[in-house]
Parts: sequence; structure tokens; C-alpha cells
Amino acid sequence: MSKSTNQESISNHKIEKYRHLYVIIEHFEGQVIPVSLEMLGEARRLMDEFNSKYNSTEKVVAVVLGNNVRKLCDDLVTYGADSVIYADHEELKYPRNDIDTKVIVQIANDAKIMKIISPEYENTFVKPRYMFFAADNIGRHLSSTVLAELDSGLASDINKLVISDLDIRHEHKTKGQSIRYEKILEMYRPDFSGFLWTTILCLDNKNPEILREYHPQGCSIIPGAFRPIEKDNLRKGTIVEYSPNIDQELKIKILNRKVIKRTIDYETCKIVVSFGRGIKDNPEQNIKLIEEFAHLLGAEIGITLPLSKKPYQVSQNLDSKYMIADRVIGTSGSKITPTLYVAVGLSGAVQHVAGMKESEMVISINTDENSPIIDESDIFIKGRMEEVVPILIEQIKKQMSSISVRSS
Ligand SMILES: Cc1cc2nc3c(=O)[nH]c(=O)nc-3n(C[C@H](O)[C@H](O)[C@H](O)COP(=O)(O)OP(=O)(O)OC[C@H]3O[C@@H](n4cnc5c(N)ncnc54)[C@H](O)[C@@H]3O)c2cc1C
Repeated sequence: MSKSTNQESISNHKIEKYRHLYVIIEHFEGQVIPVSLEMLGEARRLMDEFNSKYNSTEKVVAVVLGNNVRKLCDDLVTYGADSVIYADHEELKYPRNDIDTKVIVQIANDAKIMKIISPEYENTFVKPRYMFFAADNIGRHLSSTVLAELDSGLASDINKLVISDLDIRHEHKTKGQSIRYEKILEMYRPDFSGFLWTTILCLDNKNPEILREYHPQGCSIIPGAFRPIEKDNLRKGTIVEYSPNIDQELKIKILNRKVIKRTIDYETCKIVVSFGRGIKDNPEQNIKLIEEFAHLLGAEIGITLPLSKKPYQVSQNLDSKYMIADRVIGTSGSKITPTLYVAVGLSGAVQHVAGMKESEMVISINTDENSPIIDESDIFIKGRMEEVVPILIEQIKKQMSSISVRSS
């Protein structure tokens, strides 16, 4: 081969700078929280497919920050991680966005770790290819600050992921040319209460006038959207201790911490009746109806997120009792597991369903059989709540009086 042909083939050979899927793990009181294991499970499935399709050896890398967190690492391997990078430091004992962001960014930019994790990429690694965070209060904030620091993009509240090669033609990104993008993470998020999917792509600018690369392709993942893989105690992985650089003066210090429990105790109650915007035609009267219904069932009351923003005018008493954040069921509120869940006039958006899908039995009352809540329901009653709930109340009262007559 002549010298010039050889140089040409070297320059044509694309050197990949982005490798691996990093999963940012959250833990609470010494336990990895469920969504972190769910993310690892999905990461495992995606990267197994990825490696067989692209004939590569990219890894699922779990990242854990905290104090005394080494003990969590082996379990992360049994749940699908190939490697675990942990940073153990007193200052990392409790989640704090500013310091956690800095440490995760240090880890993401550190090519030296590759010497242990995957020496084959040591000389070319620049940043992770993909990055997952939990779509909870901590992860949503952290994902935005980390991805901003890494100069990349973020898709929030994702519940479906696919890796594929796509031909894209775009005025801005590709200057109107059709260009093939490889190994793109298609990030799907449910919008309009789950009636519509939005696909979000984090694409490099390939327009010669504005060339720019965006990696990692990052997202936050809705709790409950994916399943963990089965724990395999025989799985082997690499565990790497990372010494973070925490030398700057921290603006926020945590001297002590008290976790405030929610005012509503959903943990011990067996029945929950939740309502949503279906109460809109007569909010005051409909909430009273639901209150009576729940009282007869001995149930606690939950709501959907929009109700906590107080969209309807109701009396002060009902407003302060029910239209409150503590009653929200879903990713932005409580995750509950009652024996019976009654969903009244709510559509079953994926963020809501993530909070109630573990209920043993679900009955829903809704005017629209195309509402996604039907997929979660054991019994779906099609009808207006104003008509259905009074019938149920009447029936329960009848049953109760016949029981009390029989027992007297
Ligand atoms: C980042 C993020 C986080 C979120 N977190 C949460 C969360 O934790 N929890 C949550 O709940 N939502 C959450 N949401 C909002 C979620 O996406 C939905 O918008 C919301 O759950 C919809 O509320 P809804 O079911 O009350 O209203 P809608 O979607 O408007 O549904 C109303 C339902 O009532 C039915 N209906 C109408 N009239 C009647 C009637 N007379 N009788 C019976 N049925 C009737 C309709 O058919 C419809 O199905 C989140 C959204 C985002 C973007």
C-alpha cells in the first residue's frame, strides 16, 4: 500500500471517543433504591444488544457516591453492572447537588479509570457514550447540572429506550443533507398524559458551519418503567475506588439531617381512592362524593399531580385537606402498594402509574375507555363519576346495613 493510501485509510478510520453506559446510582439509608436497579437492568439489556450488534466490548458502569458505600458495590454487579466506580468521602454522605455534580463530572472525564475498566479504550476514551439518572427529585436536578457541565443534552422522564442507527436530514444539524448517525439512543417520553410519545435524540452537529459533538447522550428514567434483571451472584465485575477532588470551600454544609415523613400515611392503608381532573365539572361536589366513598371503604385519598397545583376553586377546607403535594401518587409523590386502588377520573399517565402499579387490585371509573388507566385496571367502569360513585356508595351502604342486621 502506498504511503498516501495508508494515511487516507487511517484518517477515514473513525476513532471513537465515547464509550460505555454510566448509570448514576442512588441509595438511601444503606440500601440501593429500586429505580437504580431498574436502570441497571435496562442498561444491561441495551448494552448486551449493543455489543453483539456492533461487535464491541462496551460496559455498564455503575457510579456510586457516598460515605461507606463500598458495601453496596458487589450487589450492583449481581444486578448487571460490569464495573462499579465508587467515591467514598464524608462530604458525600448526603446528596448535595453542587458537590455530587462535580464528582460525577470528574469521574465522567477521567480516562485513567479505563486502565482498570477497559484497557482497550484507555488511549481514546474522552467521555461516556450514554448516561442514566433516576427521574426523582435528586436525579432530575443532578442530571441537568451534570449534563450541562459535560456540555451535552438531556432528556427527562424517559420510559422507553432503543439504540439504533438513523438517517437524519435536518436544516440545522446536517445542513439539509441526509447523514447516518450511529449508536443513537432514542429516548421516548410520554406526553399529554401518556397519549403521545415524544422521541428525543441527542445528536452531534454535523453541519460543517457549526460542528459540535454532544456526549454523553443522557436521560433521567421514570421509576417503575423498567425491570431489574434477576440477581446473579455468580456475575463478576470490576470495582474501582475513585478519590474525588473536593478541595474547594463548600457553600452548603449539612450539620445534621431529619427526614420528614409525609403527613399522609399510605404505607399502612389497604385501600386508596385517588381522583384526577375528571372532577372538573363540579369539583366541590365531586370531592365530597369521593370523600364519602373513601370514608365508607376506610380508604385514604390520593390525587394526581395537576390537582396539587390547585386548578379548581373549592372551599378552603377541601383545598387544604386534599389539593396538596403530600397526596400526589406517582413519580413526583408517593409510591404505594395497597390491596385495592380506586382510580376516579384520572387518565393513568405513566408518571402516575409508576406510583400505583404495584396495587393488588385496581378499579377505575372513567368516561373514556381509551384512557391508559384501562391497561392497569382489573375492573374498568365506563361512566361519569358523578353517576357511578353514588351507585357504589348506595351499594356499600346496603351491604353494610345487611351485615349489621344479620349480626344483631
Ligand atoms: C416531570 C413530570 C412528573 C409528573 N409526575 C406526576 C406524578 O407523580 N403523578 C401524577 O399523577 N402525574 C404526574 N405528572 C403529570 C402527568 O403526566 C399527567 O399530566 C397527570 O397525571 C394527569 O392527571 P389527570 O389524570 O388528573 O388528568 P387528565 O389526564 O386530564 O385525565 C382526566 C381523566 O378524567 C376522565 N374524566 C373526565 N371527566 C370525567 C368524569 N365526569 N367522570 C369520570 N372520568 C372523567 C378523562 O377521561 C381522563 O381520563 C407528571 C408530569 C411530568 C411532566
